[in-house]
Amino acid sequence: MATKPQGDICVDCQERDASLDIRNRRLCAPCFIRYVNSKILKRMESYRFKNLAGDQKRRLFLPLSGGVSSLVLLQVLDAQLQKQMESRNKTAYELVIARVVLPDTETQTEAEGQYQQVSERFPLHNFLPLLRLYDVFRLDENIHQDLIHLGIHRQETESHDEFSRRVLSCATSVTARADLQSILLRRLLVSLARRQNCEGVLWGHSDSRLAALALADVAKGRGGSVPATIADGPSMHGINFNYPARDLFKVELQTYARALPNPLVAESKSDMSDRVAPTIRNTSIGDLLTNYINEQGVKYPSIMANVVRTASKLQAQATDQETNACPVCVMPTMRNPNSSRGNTVLCYGCARVKQDIRA
Ligand SMILES: [Zn+2]
Ligand SMILES: [Zn+2]
Repeated sequence: MATKPQGDICVDCQERDASLDIRNRRLCAPCFIRYVNSKILKRMESYRFKNLAGDQKRRLFLPLSGGVSSLVLLQVLDAQLQKQMESRNKTAYELVIARVVLPDTETQTEAEGQYQQVSERFPLHNFLPLLRLYDVFRLDENIHQDLIHLGIHRQETESHDEFSRRVLSCATSVTARADLQSILLRRLLVSLARRQNCEGVLWGHSDSRLAALALADVAKGRGGSVPATIADGPSMHGINFNYPARDLFKVELQTYARALPNPLVAESKSDMSDRVAPTIRNTSIGDLLTNYINEQGVKYPSIMANVVRTASKLQAQATDQETNACPVCVMPTMRNPNSSRGNTVLCYGCARVKQDIRA
């Protein structure tokens, strides 16, 4: 522990020694843990017992990314559900957990080992078998016809795996490839959540992650879909999206994972996997902004919080207008009959991706 100034007492409980600096307040670990739990549970209020009709059983889908944020979310909700079990012998909702192995960033074995550890630590929940990105072609029945809008056609002889590799290799820019991958990933998770009869997806995104997403969307010509990307509530996918960790910064979630009596660090990828790409040429806009926000957000947390708050306010305006879902990213798109793009079906962001595709 670093040298501790004398009289360094937690400002919350006024009792224990403070060991953490959280938003300019000195806190002890137990008070910080309580703070993180209350921030997350406040965002889960619509899933409380009192909002449950009769013997209705709610199912919520929680995808793990292998990173710390979704794992903290799982740990907090697990503790809540365990308490419910103790006091009422039932829970207000069930959690269905999934994990997708992404190409390039990790091996199947690494992901499997980690996922196994997590499922052993949180045995109360329903852990689905580990998925690969190409499972989207098995689970999303519209994906093949929707990709045709990007000029990508499946060949009859291709396996799911081969087709998945080809789709990603069609992208001639790193940003378009990352964009395609995140679209496939989201569609896979949403298809699975619907097949599992879940009424909502609980995303682990921190405030920092949402800020990076919002800024990257703007930079990629997806500004129109920013409010839909980061809003809590019904999504264009016909299922609720919730971001219960949205009031916490990434660094706070990392601190939390280490501050727990039984730390979560072993079950999540090291922070190095939020890798800094070796050169700008190999960095997608999304990665660039994520790295930037992870570095700068620590110094200017309130500015990052403002990015998300401001972007969320755009929603009212966007929903007033006639919107359709883009067939590829399933984000709202404004029909523009005067468009010179020739293809008015795609949203502007996907139309830009299409320019970077050589199918
Ligand atoms: Zn305290
Ligand atoms: Zn789109």
